[in-house]
Amino acid sequence: MQIRVEGNRARMPGLVNVHSHSFQRLIRARTEHRSPAREDSFWTWRNAMYRVANLLTPEDIYHVARMAFLEMLLAGITTVGEFHYLHNAPDGSRYDDPNLLALRVAQAAEDVGIRIVLLRTAYARAGWNLPANPLQARFITSTAEAFIADTEALRRSLPTVQIGVAPHSVRALPLEYIREIVLYARASGMPVHMHAAEQPAEIEACISEHEARPIELLARHGILDHSFTAVHAIHITSEEVGMLAAAHAGVCACPTTERNLGDGPVPADRLLDAGVPVCFGSDSNAQIDLLEDARALEYHLRMEKLRRAILRPGSLLSGLTHAGQQSLGLAEQPNDYAILDLNDASLAGSDAGSLATAILFSANRTAVRDVFVNGRQVIESGRHFAQDEIVREFRRLCSRIG
Ligand SMILES: [Zn+2]
Repeated sequence: MQIRVEGNRARMPGLVNVHSHSFQRLIRARTEHRSPAREDSFWTWRNAMYRVANLLTPEDIYHVARMAFLEMLLAGITTVGEFHYLHNAPDGSRYDDPNLLALRVAQAAEDVGIRIVLLRTAYARAGWNLPANPLQARFITSTAEAFIADTEALRRSLPTVQIGVAPHSVRALPLEYIREIVLYARASGMPVHMHAAEQPAEIEACISEHEARPIELLARHGILDHSFTAVHAIHITSEEVGMLAAAHAGVCACPTTERNLGDGPVPADRLLDAGVPVCFGSDSNAQIDLLEDARALEYHLRMEKLRRAILRPGSLLSGLTHAGQQSLGLAEQPNDYAILDLNDASLAGSDAGSLATAILFSANRTAVRDVFVNGRQVIESGRHFAQDEIVREFRRLCSRIG
């Protein structure tokens, strides 16, 4: 990451948030208590998330996306990869335009002024040998053929937006479906993103169905390549690290979400040592601060290994920018940048030798003063031009959802 200093200001490339589900911003802080379940986990959180996902109208989806994207800009994030899996009406019926909800999210990005890559997500089933779950009806596209037709329609509707293909997970799709849409994405030059190895239960289910672990399965069937990003990749063996490296695939870590959901730490030391690039995502948007994601990745490993200074700061900084662009199929964007105030209390006193690590390990969001996307200023002196209205509409939505 190239940081340029002029007086008491530093110009930092815009951060690239590779993995977001913007609507989950609505359940922030609303799942931080014990549920009636005996033990809370990723799976009890997921029930709360499904409940909210089914209450939202297309306009609600627009308003919550604006709120999440506004907060991203305030944190110096200039690009978001939105892993979008809400497609249908709550009862599972298709809208007249099957991309209605994706288009509302894209509109939110345009109105707020953030660069978006829409990762259109395929989801076909609750899991292998599991009955259909009515709470997932909004996500479902039953066949690969229909998914490809809908994705082509979205590409026609948004000719200037980068579109990617996101098979949700090995749990949510049969293998043949995954293969078909990945071949389609590859032929069209689109990036492929997929949740993989986030939770131990997902590994066990994959072994039961395929007699292979998720990354192993994807490698065996030629699904991994340089355009593939595995989101999470937490519970992986050394062999699977080698498979990702051999295929030149990448990994997206989401540490603020992974710690929130009790997923576990991404083995970034093993991945980076093997040459697998690691980028970052805010995922559930429980918190939106990509610098915190980068430092949490290092800190999780320190806590696990009882050591210090495990990852190279340069790898973390590259993960926040260059590796993220690579994962999303974007070129470098020299006109996307943030201006930091070096007199901010969190950065004061840093010098040429310590500025990059000061930004990485201690910068608060208050240090982000101005943000530019494609040369257009969207944050000025720490505020967005439509901030009050966006927050007002979001508060109205929260009070309705409860
Ligand atoms: Zn996710």
